[in-house]
Amino acid sequence: MTDDKKSAQEFKLDPDNELRFEVESKNEKVYLILKAGLAEVFGTEIVKGKTYEFSSGAKVAIYTWQGCTIEVKGKTDVIYVAKETPMVTYSNCHAALEFMRIEADKENKKGPTAMIVGPNDVGKSTVCRILLNYAVRMGRRPIFVDLDMGQGQISIPGTIGALLIERPAAIDEGFSQEAPLVYHFGHKTPSANITLSEMLINQLANTVKERLEVNKKTRSSGVIINTCGWIKGGGYKQVLHAAKSFEVDVIMVLDQERLYNELVRDIPNFVKVVFLQKSGGVVERSKTARSESRDQRIREYFYGTPKNSMYPHSFDVKWSEIKLYKIGAPPLPDSCLPLGMKADDHLTKLVLLTPNPGILHHLLAVSFAEKDDDEILLNHVAGFVCVTNVDNERQTITLLSPQPKPLPNNILLFSELQFMDSH
Ligand code: ADP
Repeated sequence: MTDDKKSAQEFKLDPDNELRFEVESKNEKVYLILKAGLAEVFGTEIVKGKTYEFSSGAKVAIYTWQGCTIEVKGKTDVIYVAKETPMVTYSNCHAALEFMRIEADKENKKGPTAMIVGPNDVGKSTVCRILLNYAVRMGRRPIFVDLDMGQGQISIPGTIGALLIERPAAIDEGFSQEAPLVYHFGHKTPSANITLSEMLINQLANTVKERLEVNKKTRSSGVIINTCGWIKGGGYKQVLHAAKSFEVDVIMVLDQERLYNELVRDIPNFVKVVFLQKSGGVVERSKTARSESRDQRIREYFYGTPKNSMYPHSFDVKWSEIKLYKIGAPPLPDSCLPLGMKADDHLTKLVLLTPNPGILHHLLAVSFAEKDDDEILLNHVAGFVCVTNVDNERQTITLLSPQPKPLPNNILLFSELQFMDSH
């Protein structure tokens, strides 16, 4: 690294240009200041003169409609100005959704439900963020649904959820996570339990519909749905399932013409399917980068972000005080199935677990369920704890929790996802 790279660099951007940079090195910080003009990061306006901080892992694009001057300080791994971006197309998509919202307002109907699909790393989450930001900047209050269990933006990995968007995403931290609606799935990819995943998608879709019914403003603002990048075979079926469940009006397909053509063929005509180019700026992430970003999300769930630190609690709970369930039992051979039981019913069976060393470092969802019955798996969850110790002698487990003792409920659900607490 040269000293030049560490000192401030100034960039003058023409209208419709984008400055892109990445911060890779650990413990590196990069600072951004808008000196003149107007600019935005994934649809959130930058405040002139304010310093924004980005740390390791950040991949950022600063787009300007009108032209601007930007100062960047610190060591970036890649930094360049792009003249070609799909922002005009994305903004046209927003305009089309906005038109549907205006119509919905007039007739007191539901606004557009739009689902963004495509393979991994094509900018699906980014497009959702841009569309939500533009909507909220127009005074709308849309619902954001994230069905991406591996790399979602709501709660922690292993979940699906919904969030009411009331203000634009913070440039360096994303959308504020106030009162999200979260369902526990417990795996990082839907292929681990398709039956459960489809049940949860139905449940989330119903809850979102109920929320739209009771709030006029949100009803006309509509819903933006992010999906995961698994789109082949079973993944494609999941896309169709989600589209039906949420009764989507629009599907935006990023980057993959094959997926676009399949959807045009299989989706009823009243749903608009549109093809969108991906941005040349979207960065592909390796398997390791994906796993690091999952870790990072979980760490932030307990410890907050550099700007907003949180101090989690650690406490012991007696085994007798909790009911720990795992969803999904080993399959029974067909010949042994009890009368009336379907071959895949085992996938949604609740199995009571006795704490054992196998649950160490695993996340547990704290259920909102009031009754201890089969409905548990369809209830949304209050939050998550992490098992940091299992004591066989004393028959206790130690939990890392965002809230102090006591747990809000004694019904806990086991997640495949693990977190090594290195604090
Ligand atoms: P997907 O949801 O399809 O997996 P993301 O929207 O998460 O893709 O994008 C992958 C990464 O690329 C993210 O880190 C995002 O910040 C980055 N990214 C997206 N668009 C741009 C862009 N125009 N310039 C630079 N980086 C971008």
